[in-house]
Order: sequence, then C-alpha cells, then structure tokens
Amino acid sequence: MTAERTLAIIKPDAVGRNLIGKIIAHLEGAGFVIRELQMTRLSEDEARRFYEVHSERPFYQSLVAFMTSGRCVPMVLERHSAVSALRETIGATDPARAAHGTVRALYAESVERNAIHASDSPENAAREIDFFFPS
Ligand code: UDP
Ligand code: MG
Repeated sequence: MTAERTLAIIKPDAVGRNLIGKIIAHLEGAGFVIRELQMTRLSEDEARRFYEVHSERPFYQSLVAFMTSGRCVPMVLERHSAVSALRETIGATDPARAAHGTVRALYAESVERNAIHASDSPENAAREIDFFFPS
C-alpha cells in the first residue's frame, strides 16, 4: 500500500502537561512513522497564517493566543491513508464528542485545548507540511 504523509502538531496544552511521549507512543502504536519532528514556539504571525482559514471564526483570536502560549511539536507522519487515519486516531475536535480511546478523548482538556492538530485533507497536509518543513 502506498504511504501518505500528514502533519500533526502536539499543542501547547499537551506539551505543558508533559504528554509528548504518551502522544507519540499512541501515534506510533497506530502505525504512523515519524519522518520529521521539531519543537518550536509559534509567533503570533505564524499562528495567524497557519490558521488563516479560521480567521473569520469567533474562536480565532483565542486560538492564536493559545497556540502561541507555549511550545508545540509539529511532526510529519507517514502511513497508508495517513490523512484520514490520523483524523480517526485523534478523534473529534471537541473531546466530549471524541470516540473512546482517541488521543483527544484521552488527553484533551477542552474544545480549544485539545492536545493535537491533524491536517484535514491531502491538499492541506501538503501546505501544512511545507509550512513547518519546507523542502
Ligand atoms: N477550536 C476552538 N473552538 C471551536 C472550534 C475549534 O477553539 O469551536 C480550535 C480547536 O483548537 C481546534 C482548532 O480551533 O482544534 C481548529 O479548528 P478545526 O475546526 O479545524 O478543528 P480540528 O481540525 O483541529 O479538529
Ligand atoms: Mg482543522
């Protein structure tokens, strides 16, 4: 089966609660291979650009403040059907609605502080991978 790549970000809430190792172990256990990884603190400009599609949403300002509040861990993950498989592995945006055993059900604090980001389409995965890991 052909491997596909997607972008995940362990968000500042999870980094701040010392959950990097647990989340990475969960992702590796779900069959993802880490191809790139870094730890970084987003500037306000970077967070605004990364979440530009949400700029008209009521939660945008708060999301940018949260994503710049501490360090995060972007990584490129590879697996067959990586984009859809990672969305399944992390669960719904709101942890109260996330399926049992998903990363967000296990580790998210709230709909905003939800532990992890994952690209939502192959097109966005390509854009988001290039954002953090330009070739
Ligand atoms: N978010 C929020 N309130 C909402 C919806 C989203 O604070 O009502 C935050 C949350 O951190 C989410 C991010 O904005 O992960 C991006 O939202 P999106 O709808 O793209 O959710 P995701 O793709 O991360 O599941
Ligand atoms: Mg999204």
